[in-house]
Amino acid sequence: MDIQDIQTLIRDIPDFPKPGIVFRDITTLLKHPEGFRSTIDLLAQRCGELSPDYILGMESRGFIFGTAVAYQLNCGFIPVRKPKKLPAPVYQQSYDLEYGQDQLEMHQDALKEGDRLVVVDDLIATGGTAQATAKLVEQAGAILAGFVFVIELEALEGRKNLPDVPISSLIQY
Ligand code: 5GP
Repeated sequence: MDIQDIQTLIRDIPDFPKPGIVFRDITTLLKHPEGFRSTIDLLAQRCGELSPDYILGMESRGFIFGTAVAYQLNCGFIPVRKPKKLPAPVYQQSYDLEYGQDQLEMHQDALKEGDRLVVVDDLIATGGTAQATAKLVEQAGAILAGFVFVIELEALEGRKNLPDVPISSLIQY
């Protein structure tokens, strides 16, 4: 399947999680065998061009795509999680939501200085989640080779909040 076919498998849900927001639902893509496989192939191709040792994925939809890409590229996978989920010592990074703040965490020993990684997530909106992840990578002293997303909401200009590394998305709205 090409990118246009993949896009037809993403379902729009109006007024979720609140009125006025159109949620791009990827569960309809995930359950389509050929669509899911083609999405992973395309993500893996773009990640592979950046020669990573590791794929980093954010809880929770980033795990779905990131682990499959890591498997295909023979890379390790590193989970970035919501607070209080990881058992060993963590780096922490707060980020702003529309109302309030949230936090992401990564094990301190997950990456060492000089390790090279690509961040994978389902969607970039404001870029807050990806920016916080980049700061966790910075705390670890590892090399952030780039970001690869399935979907980019271009009007929100999230990539402006990210460091100056290659940023790629398969589908733009
Ligand atoms: P950001 O931090 O860039 O504003 O939001 C991106 C994060 O929110 C991603 O981790 C993504 O999973 C989630 N997200 C926000 N809006 C949507 C949406 O419309 N569809 C999906 N699938 N995820 C979304």
